[in-house]
Amino acid sequence: MARKRIVAGNWKMNKSLEESQALITEIRGMVRDEHRGQSKVVLFPTFLAIPSATRLLEGTGIGLGAQNCHWEESGAYTGELSASMLQRVGAQYVLVGHSERRQYFGETNETCAQKIKSVIRQGMTAVYCVGETLSQREDKSFFAVIEKQISEGLFGLDRKEFGQVVIAYEPVWAIGTGLNASPSQAEEIHAHIRRLVAHQYSQEIADDTSILYGGSVKPDNAQELFMCPNIDGGLIGGASLKARDFIDIAKALR
Ligand code: PEP
Repeated sequence: MARKRIVAGNWKMNKSLEESQALITEIRGMVRDEHRGQSKVVLFPTFLAIPSATRLLEGTGIGLGAQNCHWEESGAYTGELSASMLQRVGAQYVLVGHSERRQYFGETNETCAQKIKSVIRQGMTAVYCVGETLSQREDKSFFAVIEKQISEGLFGLDRKEFGQVVIAYEPVWAIGTGLNASPSQAEEIHAHIRRLVAHQYSQEIADDTSILYGGSVKPDNAQELFMCPNIDGGLIGGASLKARDFIDIAKALR
């Protein structure tokens, strides 16, 4: 998959079914009227909203994804959904390893690796989230932490499989806190991730990999982040719940 510029909205556990449909309809209208597809817009609503989102987004070019999946196709895993179930209702992307899943649901690099394989097996794209905590930034272990997340989560994939991966760098200290990484802090990590991918696979594959930044991206800070050469777009939490803000962020990505 060639490198794409992407703005993705992670709605987390927000919006009822009706509210989700209303927000999708609003975003759809704005994308048509204002954004005109300079970059790929992808929405990650709750599981509940995915089937109707599939219908609402048909023919719009807006992508649709799920926020999580199980790594098995079916079985005794109460409360879970598999990648194949999600694919069949229209998901094209799945988020894997978001810091909230790592923090509250015990996800590890190993379980992420299994989930990523299952997403790829279904022909979908895995958006793999990595990032350090505040204490890891402060004690300067963050390069090592990110290297471990990247190598354990992704480097079991072969070259072809790796083509179905998007990476999102999301420093945990910047998620939902209003504190975003400065463009130079973010660019430093993105360039490092790209070097890791080049070392493991090839420079060509690294150049084709989309690496998104996430963590308190807002309309007023998006442009300076997106101007960095190794930042290919954003994974947006809070600001993706308001159509106006989300589209203004998408417009900042040219
Ligand atoms: C996220 O949860 O992926 C995220 C980046 O959240 P926020 O934009 O609210 O910091």
